[in-house]
Amino acid sequence: MERLQQVDQQLQELMQNAIAVSPIDFGIPEFGGLRTEKEQQQLYEKGLSKCDGYKRKSLHQTGNAIDIYAYVNGKASWDKIHLAIIAGVILSEARRMKLKVRWGGTFGSKTFTGWDMPHFEFIKS
Ligand SMILES: [Zn+2]
Repeated sequence: MERLQQVDQQLQELMQNAIAVSPIDFGIPEFGGLRTEKEQQQLYEKGLSKCDGYKRKSLHQTGNAIDIYAYVNGKASWDKIHLAIIAGVILSEARRMKLKVRWGGTFGSKTFTGWDMPHFEFIKS
């Protein structure tokens, strides 16, 4: 909850609405919410992000992105099926709230082919 409070207000409302109706509980891991430039750079150096935090900034640095994990049988899960079910709930809730949200599970390009299933970003209009 503390990590959720650091992100954009509308993104917070979206996640609170989604968690109220999701069949699978979920949470926000460390660095899953707002990140400093240094934290972003550390993730980049570990190969966990394509943004270095300085030249290429992440939406996590402005509070417009959030990463989640599923919470199943009393522990954290990054199982793709669990994450996909939660993504369905979050995206349909975003649509209902008329918010433009992109799910990392749909990401892919020539240079970055991995899916980023825990990631959601809010596109402000
Ligand atoms: Zn992310």
